[in-house]
Amino acid sequence: MSKTNKKNKAKKDKTKNPSLSHDLKLFFRGMKIAYSLDKRFFWMQIFNAVGDSFRPYINSFMAALIIDGIAEGKPTKTLIVYALIVVGVNLVINFITQYTAARRYIRKSMWNRYLIRFFNGYSEKMDYWRFEDSETKEKWERIKNQIDEWKGIGSCHFTLHGLAHAIFGTAMSVGILVTMILSKPSTPQTGIMSFINSPWMIFVFAAMLIIVGVLSSRISLMWRKINDKWNAYWGKDKKRFWKMTEFVEDNKRAMDLRIYNFKDIILKENNYAFEKHLQTTNETRWQEFRAQFGYNLLNIALSALSYVLVGLKALSGAFGLGSVVLYVSTLVSFNSEASYIGWTLGQIRASRYAFEDQFSYIDMPRQMYKGTFKVDGLIGKDYNVEFRNVSFKYPGCEEYALKNVNIKFNIGRKLAVVGMNGSGKTTFIKLLCRLYDPIEGEILLNDVDIKEYDYDEYMSIFSVVFQDFKLFSFSLAENVATSKQYDAGRVERCLENAGFGERLTTLPKGIETSLYKNFDKDGIEISGGEAQRIALARALYKDAPFIILDEPTAALDPLAEAEVYSNFNKIVGDKTAVYISHRLSSCKFCDEIVVFDDGSIVQRGTHDELVDVDGKYNELWYAQAQYYAEDNTAKA
Ligand code: ADP
Repeated sequence: MSKTNKKNKAKKDKTKNPSLSHDLKLFFRGMKIAYSLDKRFFWMQIFNAVGDSFRPYINSFMAALIIDGIAEGKPTKTLIVYALIVVGVNLVINFITQYTAARRYIRKSMWNRYLIRFFNGYSEKMDYWRFEDSETKEKWERIKNQIDEWKGIGSCHFTLHGLAHAIFGTAMSVGILVTMILSKPSTPQTGIMSFINSPWMIFVFAAMLIIVGVLSSRISLMWRKINDKWNAYWGKDKKRFWKMTEFVEDNKRAMDLRIYNFKDIILKENNYAFEKHLQTTNETRWQEFRAQFGYNLLNIALSALSYVLVGLKALSGAFGLGSVVLYVSTLVSFNSEASYIGWTLGQIRASRYAFEDQFSYIDMPRQMYKGTFKVDGLIGKDYNVEFRNVSFKYPGCEEYALKNVNIKFNIGRKLAVVGMNGSGKTTFIKLLCRLYDPIEGEILLNDVDIKEYDYDEYMSIFSVVFQDFKLFSFSLAENVATSKQYDAGRVERCLENAGFGERLTTLPKGIETSLYKNFDKDGIEISGGEAQRIALARALYKDAPFIILDEPTAALDPLAEAEVYSNFNKIVGDKTAVYISHRLSSCKFCDEIVVFDDGSIVQRGTHDELVDVDGKYNELWYAQAQYYAEDNTAKA
């Protein structure tokens, strides 16, 4: 194998099997986040672990004292004092461990929620385009599973408990074992007995500590392989199974499911998912069995060795019966605590994938949030927006959705964006609202690239009602005001202006009425047209200087849409407004009409300027004229 090949192989192995320090760094970062999310949980874990690991030692120590006391014929009074100390110490430890256990239980029940809230914070601020990225979606599916099963950051508090228990327990047992090594028989020993009573035994125990740590961490590395398998399964097959369940549960799909027979596809998908689940569980369960069996075997072997060592030392006369009890139990604890350190390290290493998924999710670069300019000063003042040679392709698409778009318009203007379906109208709006950034050219607000503005501030100047707008299962008022605190009078005015007034008077709870029945059995189901009106009211309530309607009225007939648009235009007053429609009649009233075709602006002007000029507008206008023939301004 050539030198470069060897180097490459080493590099590849390193990424596949990174070093312990790499895995520990991930754990410490996770621990830092876990600590910041719930400090009390952190301290409860430490106190509980220390209290719990202390208890067996103090009990063995006191038991040894009592047994030796009896053997040496100590006065009953002294023995009673010993017994009282045991009871007292146990009471104190019991209080600490039970109290912290109760607190831990409470914190544990909150832990998933804190984690979800933590990740939601990142999802809310994630660049919008990533929602369409299948890799991000798959990662999020995996992270949700990891949160459910306390993996990655979710595992840190629990790992900490194990580690604190093991480290404190090991330290305690090492201290007691040193006293064992130092105790010598009164008569000189020969052969094996002399070795067993020599200070060299320190090295035997140190070697035991290392062997136990290394072996148990090796065994627990098998967990990583198990995790790999689950990880691969979660990414694809588990998701498919739950998607099928979602399809069957979803009331929006229920109608189509009944009319068309999807049963066969769903059944086959389910069978495939069952097979995969069974296969993964089977493989991983046997690996788990091997790991667990190996771990137990190690503990049994070490306990046996401990009995032999302590027995031999006691036989040589180094200590009495009581100390045998103390040292045997200490050695058994030493083995299990020391092996638990190795075990936990293995668990930390096995968590690598979960940590990597989770950190790469929260570290995702946010291109949209780099700007710092304020827009405050612009509101209420004269400003203009300009698209300069803007081109755009959707992520992963070869085709341009927008090509070389140039347009400038001023505040207060009513702009219509018209064109056939798929001509680029919505994409134009999505770029204006910075849901995506152009791949070529720039968009300027008052001659400053919109990327330079603070993202949240920039978003605050827009009220947009998209075609596929969404309402939430909150109250009507909360949907309109998008807040728990709202001005009830203003909510009602906006609903009235948006044409929902009449329906509002029929609702017994008025604006307090819940939408849908998810959280409230008295919630109302609303029609598509009513939903549109509520969405329009939401746009009005925001009172942003820039209002955009992107065909939220697509379900209405052309005349009704034209009416909604022109009524809405009267309400928005002197705000800047952009109206989008593939129906030209809806936007006739606008100051300026921009015609899109195949991703480019092909014409601009008023209706009167465009309608009789050869071009796309004229072509579309006459093609659509039949739909609004009764409109007497249509020159059909
Ligand atoms: P319009 O609003 O005029 O109907 P769009 O702006 O929605 O047109 O679409 C313009 C082009 O971009 C179309 O070819 C459409 O298929 C494509 N497109 C729209 N949204 C996406 C998307 N999320 N991913 C990929 N292509 C898209």
